[in-house]
Amino acid sequence: MWPKIQRAIAQSLPHLPRPIISRVARRYIAGSSLTDAITTAKDLATRGFRTTIDFLGEDTQRPEQANEVVAEYLRLLAAIGEFNLPGGVSVKLTQLGLRFDPDQCVHHLKTIVNQASKVGRFVRVDMEDSSVVGTTLDIVRSLRKSGMLNVGSVLQAYLRRTADDVDTYLQTGGDVRFCKGIYRESEELAFQNRNEITQNFIIQTQRLLEAGVYVGIATHDTVIISAMEQYLQQRGVDKNRYEFQALLGVPITARLKRLVSDGHKVRIYIPYGTHWYAYSLRRLKENPDVVGAVLRSMVRWDR
Ligand SMILES: Cc1cc2nc3c(=O)[nH]c(=O)nc-3n(C[C@H](O)[C@H](O)[C@H](O)COP(=O)(O)OP(=O)(O)OC[C@H]3O[C@@H](n4cnc5c(N)ncnc54)[C@H](O)[C@@H]3O)c2cc1C
Repeated sequence: MWPKIQRAIAQSLPHLPRPIISRVARRYIAGSSLTDAITTAKDLATRGFRTTIDFLGEDTQRPEQANEVVAEYLRLLAAIGEFNLPGGVSVKLTQLGLRFDPDQCVHHLKTIVNQASKVGRFVRVDMEDSSVVGTTLDIVRSLRKSGMLNVGSVLQAYLRRTADDVDTYLQTGGDVRFCKGIYRESEELAFQNRNEITQNFIIQTQRLLEAGVYVGIATHDTVIISAMEQYLQQRGVDKNRYEFQALLGVPITARLKRLVSDGHKVRIYIPYGTHWYAYSLRRLKENPDVVGAVLRSMVRWDR
């Protein structure tokens, strides 16, 4: 019964008033401004965490919007350099106009990666839905081939194609974030079963690590974290060849602190900005306590 209610609430989230979504999702977002993101990153740094800061936004519709996004990333990278924060940035290609002007999108990405290089930082290109996966991987691969080694992409365990994409990484080497994948995809393209996704996550990350690819193990799933810890220890994998990653606001802090005190690198993904809605909906749908969170928020809303 409870999972059904859970699913029903998750499906009805887009119909809830935005202030309710904003209230429930606040924990996942650093704030609306660059200063908010930097403050959060500074705080996490004092606790031993690395960070990657994401200026929220996707599916940009107009060239001027994409230009503004680039300008914000340049300001963000300057601030990261100025405060010597241990971390870089994450960016989405549809935010840079991939859907309406792919060439200009590549130009924008190069501008950001060049600026990141000047301050010695890394740019992670987030992975979006399956309609742009191939293009995103190709673009990042071509930048790396041209010598821009401070950029990397993301692979998603739920996609059936990912085993083949890993094969390519085994030949080229590289730097990849590995996550389960968050978009709704068809059965033809993606595993739907939780155990299959978990197994694929573990198998493919281990293949990448064995080939010397740097891997960001991006998950809050304690089954996967434990399996990977065990594997890394048994194989004696150097702690500079991988890191664990988590999203701001997901209640897994105790586990992350333990990873840090065991000497693992741990990076927190910090989103900020005013385009918080789509990202927040995705996070809420994954929250196992979405029912409680929404109900508590509504009670407060009524007061
Ligand atoms: C650093 C990072 C970067 C990512 N980048 C991308 C990307 O580029 N492209 C992409 O498609 N996906 C990305 N994701 C999202 C990812 O694909 C998953 O959707 C997300 O991490 C949830 O899967 P999970 O591995 O944590 O496992 P799950 O089984 O979903 O979660 C494991 C446990 O974590 C807890 N949990 C998970 N989410 C929440 C939440 N929102 N609120 C409260 N508790 C929660 C629950 O206890 C849950 O049981 C990223 C994830 C991380 C950590």
